[in-house]
Amino acid sequence: MTTRNVQQIIKSMATSDGAGVKLRRSIGQQRGLYHDPFLMLDEFSSDNPGDYIAGFPAHPHRGFETVTYLLDGHMLHEDHLGHRGDLKSGGVQWMTAGRGIIHSEMPQQLEGRMRGFQLWLNLPGSEKMKPASYRDIDPSEIPLVELAGGGRAKVIAGTLDVDGAQTRGAIQGATTDPLYLDVELPAGARFSIPVNAEYNAFIYPYEGSIAVGPSDSARTVEARSAALLSKGDRVDVTAGPDGARFLVLGGRPLKEPVVQYGPFVMNTREEIEQAIKDYQNGELAAVS
Ligand code: MN
Repeated sequence: MTTRNVQQIIKSMATSDGAGVKLRRSIGQQRGLYHDPFLMLDEFSSDNPGDYIAGFPAHPHRGFETVTYLLDGHMLHEDHLGHRGDLKSGGVQWMTAGRGIIHSEMPQQLEGRMRGFQLWLNLPGSEKMKPASYRDIDPSEIPLVELAGGGRAKVIAGTLDVDGAQTRGAIQGATTDPLYLDVELPAGARFSIPVNAEYNAFIYPYEGSIAVGPSDSARTVEARSAALLSKGDRVDVTAGPDGARFLVLGGRPLKEPVVQYGPFVMNTREEIEQAIKDYQNGELAAVS
């Protein structure tokens, strides 16, 4: 067994997107700062409506998946084909943009806390032009595993294996075979799981701090930084003195060229030019 080390820490940066939603971006904060197949991770967290109320009015996507996980708040998703999805605290929207979608993501609250994450997950070239699809995952569909040493883990995607006890998450079977866990640990508790040695993985603490890696070379990772992990077949995390909440992400790398232009992520420049043309001509999401 080889325990994964921290290879690189990406501190999140404050930025804004949509019509002025304040957020913190770690992976994807610069072009090329990807962790294949992960293109971007945004965390939004505020009690101030001025930081989120403007939301994300109509905008396009092509070529990848967006996974929105809401910890606190209420958001309404609507696309140009009339699909509506209500996202409430603890819920997940898994959107496969594929060939194209034009959608809005708007807060449905005038006050209170809005907190959650949006992950961008790449699609292989062979699936970038498939029809758009959705999975709206109710909080009750996400398995919650109580951990023996204290704490708990929500299994959003993939399979959690704790000492051989397996729990299948709400999402299974994408080509990138993602693992997406939300883990909460009390001070000093340990979380140790096997992961596929061929996959890329990273950990994003959003409360407290964690030590990641083998006990003789573990590195401390503070909240709101993405810790990209080296190759290995285990992930070991120990919570800091205040406990911790963190995301664990893993997935099969696509090893394909990534060409991004804003909300379009394709393999070549020509495909990006086509996406822009299709969007301008109203054909981004046309059924072919
Ligand atoms: Mn969007």
